[in-house]
Amino acid sequence: MIMYDFPPFRPPSEASSYLIRVIRGCNWNRCKFCRMYKSIKFQLRSKEEIMRDIDEMHKFFPPSNTAFLGDSDPLIHPDICEIIAYLKKRYPEIKRITAYARAKSIAEMPEDKLEMLKDVGLTRIHMGLESGNNEILELVKKGVTDEGLIKAGKKVVKFFELTYYVMVGLGGIEKSIEHVRDTAKVINSVKPTFVRIRTLTIFPNTPMAHLKDKITPLNAYQQLDELQMLIEKINVPTYFTCDHVFNYLFTKDGIIFTGVDGFIPDEKDRMLSELESARKMIKSLERTGIQVFTCNQMYNMGLISL
Ligand code: SF4
Repeated sequence: MIMYDFPPFRPPSEASSYLIRVIRGCNWNRCKFCRMYKSIKFQLRSKEEIMRDIDEMHKFFPPSNTAFLGDSDPLIHPDICEIIAYLKKRYPEIKRITAYARAKSIAEMPEDKLEMLKDVGLTRIHMGLESGNNEILELVKKGVTDEGLIKAGKKVVKFFELTYYVMVGLGGIEKSIEHVRDTAKVINSVKPTFVRIRTLTIFPNTPMAHLKDKITPLNAYQQLDELQMLIEKINVPTYFTCDHVFNYLFTKDGIIFTGVDGFIPDEKDRMLSELESARKMIKSLERTGIQVFTCNQMYNMGLISL
């Protein structure tokens, strides 16, 4: 029987992509907010196993012209260029090939390796920025500084599309201003193709749960404030999107806000006005005694599972 090794996570934007597991787990695995690969032992898969999966993947996925490489940092695989070249050769209809990558790994990667990855067919990199503030990055053990994030980001945009994942609320109420200010600085100096928002949700059994005295989670208004400040401060062209349930706001009866999405600068004013409308909606719900909760609050009250 053929066994296909599926990556356990992929970005929502890769929902229709072929998923190819190049490594297992995360070679860093220390970010305090992250629970993705905590129980998985880091391993490089053999080139032969990966190529066998590539041969068989059309049996496990509907036809697609996009592919995603997992798990957390697959471009560090020593045979990655050969693997991507093989993928393109077997499925020439694939037009977009994307991968997660750690900023630290990309910052240390020679540019000619990135050029080779582009030449064989890699088109987009998904990278966790989280915050541009060094105190926050240190506190959550991201393992990279603002300089490393900028260095990595600038290298990526020379060759590929770049998605930066930003974690609204990562500095808590305590460092909200600095978090937004320094994150916008990194975005403005790198000019990523996409900025995707993931608001902090604190999971029990992650080290983040022990930082509650240093990082107080945002309430619904504070979450909207951070989004507003961030959008206002981004002054380079990019697509800004809240494409994840972590950004939703809820009453106990259901979802009332799913975030904002649009191109900056063209749709900046529209997004800001949607945030203002969301604020007014919360106020009017509260006047009738209905409370509004963040995803983090809903999850920690046991009202949703994630
Ligand atoms: S956020 Fe990324 S780099 Fe950090 S532990 Fe999770 S998968 Fe690894």
